[in-house]
Amino acid sequence: MAQANSPAGGHAVDPARLAPLLSATLADLPAVLLDVCRSIGFAQAGLCEAKATAFGDELDRWLADGQQGSMGWLADHLDARKDPRRLLRGATSMLVVADQYADGTPDQPAADGGRARGRIARYARGRDYHRSIKRRLHALCDTLRLRFPDQQFRAFSDIEPVLEREHAARAGLGWVGKHTLVIHPVSGSYILLGGIVSTLRLDPPAAPRVVADRCGTCTRCIDACPTQAITPYRVNASRCISYLTIEHRGPIDPAMQPAMGDWLFGCDICQEVCPHNQPASRRPREAHEAYAPARDSLDLLEVLGWTPEQRGRELSGTAIKRARLDMLKRNALILAGNRLSQPGAEGLAGLRARIAAIAADAGEPALVRETAGQVLARLASLGR
Ligand code: SF4
Ligand code: SF4
Repeated sequence: MAQANSPAGGHAVDPARLAPLLSATLADLPAVLLDVCRSIGFAQAGLCEAKATAFGDELDRWLADGQQGSMGWLADHLDARKDPRRLLRGATSMLVVADQYADGTPDQPAADGGRARGRIARYARGRDYHRSIKRRLHALCDTLRLRFPDQQFRAFSDIEPVLEREHAARAGLGWVGKHTLVIHPVSGSYILLGGIVSTLRLDPPAAPRVVADRCGTCTRCIDACPTQAITPYRVNASRCISYLTIEHRGPIDPAMQPAMGDWLFGCDICQEVCPHNQPASRRPREAHEAYAPARDSLDLLEVLGWTPEQRGRELSGTAIKRARLDMLKRNALILAGNRLSQPGAEGLAGLRARIAAIAADAGEPALVRETAGQVLARLASLGR
């Protein structure tokens, strides 16, 4: 999962902004590269040596404990994940960048308006970050290859086996908080990471100022997590709502369902409560325009009625497409159950009827029917 963040959303990168990379002296190149990164929209950028992780044993223990849930792919390419020099042979340096996707403006729960809605995590409310980050990273790589045809450059963002948060911290982009996300002193943690592994030596213009851990005695994220997924500096992904709603493809344990609240895709709670994301405590850059929210929530009844074509149309170009239709319907059913189990749900009889219809519809996927049955059983046990 990302931190999980065209100079402009859907547009090509302006070549004029990349041109300084072709003319800078070798001595000036690292500083010029960081300037170029900021000019093409990255909120933060830093450089560090390409070297093995210091947390290899911790990663092994986390995997051995099964905390990755069904994300078996996290154990794939483990050698490369532990050492970027296995991802790119001969790598010496790493550029790490961050896109600001939200400021700390308090978020409101999805407006009900008589219709139950499911919230979307902030990073997924605009265009798909994979595209917007990769487009600029590839433009940087192409320009550097023009200048240094004998060197190799490989872009990464979320999908590649790279421990982005650790490298970001080493490149001076912040510290890894107790919720395991990188927190920049100005940008906070609403940032998405990416970067480039390079065989070209790119020493930081000044030794990267590693940002000291400022979590101190704070435990707000740990206390606020509705599923108790966080212990200091460790998240049990198999209990995390982001994992359950986005990555997990099977049924969700009924015992976990009430804690999902109204989160349809992802969860921001541990970031919302963090003091380093409060607007009063810092002046973050404006969120990159690629992440301008198109929607902050979806109507549950609509999602439950989607065909594959409607899902494709509604979610085109967004990161929400990562969740298959049966997963989105599973999530929507659970949220419908959560809403119906609360007081004031008398006007939602249509939603209740829809759950019952889905449970009895042999044409629905097994995951969706099974979840509908679980939700009906929970509502019955509550006398609703
Ligand atoms: S995203 Fe939500 S469920 Fe996951 S660790 Fe943070 S608060 Fe807990
Ligand atoms: S909420 Fe507190 S403990 Fe958690 S990451 Fe933020 S500062 Fe650290």
